[in-house]
This record gives sequence, C-alpha cells and structure tokens, in this order.
Amino acid sequence: MVRRRSSRNKVQQFYCPYCEGRMWRAGSQKHFLFYLGASEIQRNVGISRKSAVMLAAKGDYVDSKSWIEDFFCTKHGKLWMKITKRAQENLVASLATREDWQQTTHTIQPDILNSSVSEFTYRMSRRNGTKYYEQYSN
Ligand SMILES: [Zn+2]
Repeated sequence: MVRRRSSRNKVQQFYCPYCEGRMWRAGSQKHFLFYLGASEIQRNVGISRKSAVMLAAKGDYVDSKSWIEDFFCTKHGKLWMKITKRAQENLVASLATREDWQQTTHTIQPDILNSSVSEFTYRMSRRNGTKYYEQYSN
C-alpha cells in the first residue's frame, strides 16, 4: 500500500492490483461492511473490547469506513475493491475477498433482511452468503 502520497492531490487515484495501471471508480453503490457481535466489531474496527461490547448491544455495526466499490481497469475490466478509509481522508484499496462480501450481505440485500427475519435465519443467510459473492463478482 502506498502511504504518504501527496496530500495536495485532492482527487485520489487508484491503481489496478494486476497491472498497476490507473483504475477508475465506476460510481456504483457502496456496499458497506457490517459486523455482528462484539468479537467481529473488535477485530475489524480495532477498538477496545469494552467499546465493542457497547456497540454490539445496539445491534449490527455498520462500518462507515469500509466498503466494497466497483472499479474499472482498461485492461482487466470490472474489479471489486474493498476500500478502507484511513486518517486524513486517505483511502486504501485492496481486492475484495469472499469474506469481505459476506460482511456486506446485509447492505446488498436490504429488502430481504428486514426486521421480520428472525436472528437465526439472518445468521444462517450470512453463512450462506457465497451466492451473493458469485452474483456480484461477474
Ligand atoms: Zn489492470
């Protein structure tokens, strides 16, 4: 990951992980990551156990600083990148993994996972989240 890129350059540029050519944002919807339970929150957000437990008590935690977004490389076509927002508005991009997609199931399929779905069914759908990955990776 490139750190310390000139902060004078307001429009951040992204580069393809395969060919290192410039990638362009496709401008699609951002698929935010979210976490279930204190352990997931603590691991992904990097906060204290106590804070994670407090956040978990309020329900699912949506990470407003991590999302999957659609990019385009002129050589490699469409690429789904996981974007993580760091300090100073710096965005770090890495290829979205299957695990990343499973973290976003909630935001990809908001109409299915409504409040009438039991916690059990909801968790099961998270475990079986691979179908969303396949659907969105083409
Ligand atoms: Zn490329």
